[in-house]
Amino acid sequence: MKSDIQIAQEAKMVHIKEVASSLNIQEDDLELYGKYKAKFSDELLSKIESNKNGKLVLVTAINPTPAGEGKTTTSVGLGQAMGVLGKKACLALREPSLGPCFGIKGGAAGGGYAQVVPMEDLNLHFTGDFHAITSANNLLAAMLDNHIQQGNTLGIDPRQIVWKRCLDMNDRALRNIVVGLGSKMDGMVREDHFVITVASEIMAILCLADDMHDLKKRLGRIIVAYSFDGKPVTADDLQATGAMAALLKDALKPNLIQTLEHTPAIVHGGPFANIAHGCNSVRATKASMKLADITITEAGFGADLGAEKFFDIKCRMAGLKPDAVVLVATVRALKYNGGVPKAELTTENLDALKKGIVNLEKHIENLQKYGVPVVVTLNSFVTDTQAETDFVRDFCQERGCEFALSEVWEKGGEGGVELAKKVLYVLENKESNFKPLYEDSLSLKDKIKTVATEIYGADDVTYSPAAEKELKRIEELGMGDFPVCMAKTQYSLSDDQTKLGRPEGFNVNVREVYASAGAGFVVAVTGSIMTMPGLPKQPAANNIDVTDDGVITGLF
Ligand code: ADP
Ligand code: MG
Repeated sequence: MKSDIQIAQEAKMVHIKEVASSLNIQEDDLELYGKYKAKFSDELLSKIESNKNGKLVLVTAINPTPAGEGKTTTSVGLGQAMGVLGKKACLALREPSLGPCFGIKGGAAGGGYAQVVPMEDLNLHFTGDFHAITSANNLLAAMLDNHIQQGNTLGIDPRQIVWKRCLDMNDRALRNIVVGLGSKMDGMVREDHFVITVASEIMAILCLADDMHDLKKRLGRIIVAYSFDGKPVTADDLQATGAMAALLKDALKPNLIQTLEHTPAIVHGGPFANIAHGCNSVRATKASMKLADITITEAGFGADLGAEKFFDIKCRMAGLKPDAVVLVATVRALKYNGGVPKAELTTENLDALKKGIVNLEKHIENLQKYGVPVVVTLNSFVTDTQAETDFVRDFCQERGCEFALSEVWEKGGEGGVELAKKVLYVLENKESNFKPLYEDSLSLKDKIKTVATEIYGADDVTYSPAAEKELKRIEELGMGDFPVCMAKTQYSLSDDQTKLGRPEGFNVNVREVYASAGAGFVVAVTGSIMTMPGLPKQPAANNIDVTDDGVITGLF
């Protein structure tokens, strides 16, 4: 079997102009980044504004193994399959982060014969959006420290600085650092922190902003610190908003690439779903809905994280109404949830499958709470046995749940026809009555409790004293009506990654809370999740190389 990168490198891409023209976009409305990547011009986005909206399909998954369960693969394959059936479909996906690329998971362009290309570009620097976000984030940090150095007229309390520097890299050594060492001219000494770029509030803002005007309003509201008399100090107060927006001018424009079968894919923004809100940009999703009849979008990790935030944050803020959800399961993740160690996932084990399938059951129940019709798909691996596949199919059918086997990894679009037909059937015959899980008017604690009990299956929520205090301050500052963005491990429905399957009888512990005033949500950090990941013992980076003639290898 060929590796993902081999398949991607053998792909015969068409010029991005041709991909765009399948969505009725003229070359003039593209900003070309070479032959195979382009950004949408602002003119295009205004031109299509009065178009009718197409249907919106979310792809999500059960709790994953550390390798990922194939949401991107399934999304891309479903898009390709819609093409096989002659439908006008478009993908709206996130841009990959360098963190997982060099860490444990490898790239995020899909897999096998269901990939978006150019895969190496997408996984490495792409069109520079993440660099722009990192720069804007760190400009604000530099201006903050400089303000203190130059006399601190805003009275910023150096002990109450909440803005962190960022880098798109898994680099645990930067989690807690000291800056400003040296002489008087080298700045004020203080403790500082880095987050990974995909957890930065700038990333969330870029993904939630409607346009440049909205982007600037949101950037200006960012709280960087509190003053000695307890007042929030914002990016506007530091007069940093304009310069940050200038850095983000092109990053705000959605990117267009193609699948292996030339389906258009708008790939834009990339917050993680465990430590951020986990969805591609609102601009990408909205543009796709204006340009195509069916938009297929992915939210990160399991449905407890990505889908919950897609519904409760993104759809709520952007006024989106999804029409269907595809819930991806794999035999290996079900067995993993049934307690099988990573190394033994390829051996048939019906007992473990029976034990682990409660995880799928819980995710089906959760998605039904949002009123959107669900199709379960089994992302087929060559190691799956007939008995295992039949078991999952029967389980879904016994619960009256739509089910389709997906073989897109092995066969591309052709392997996704069963799934595409199921999705089309649901779009035509089942009504979506989408509603978010909770009302804006609930208190922040009640929102957190609703997510924890309804979605995670927790009994209750406990808070650290610091989190209690911060929640009170956030409500006093008038941000109590924000939705909550939960930061939680992706491996369990609970906040403890060792609790697999469908855990019961647990509490969720909120250890830290902070307001993302520009993004418009309140982050609640649970368990021991980190906003700056580390590299594993054997990082994927060890196997990545480039040949003398410039061909990248080992990226998977
Ligand atoms: P997710 O989006 O859920 O994180 P991806 O679609 O990125 O997952 O897939 C993760 C990895 O698993 C990729 O390397 C991909 O090639 C591989 N993969 C996905 N589906 C299959 C499959 N059916 N068979 C074998 N490998 C697969
Ligand atoms: Mg993915």
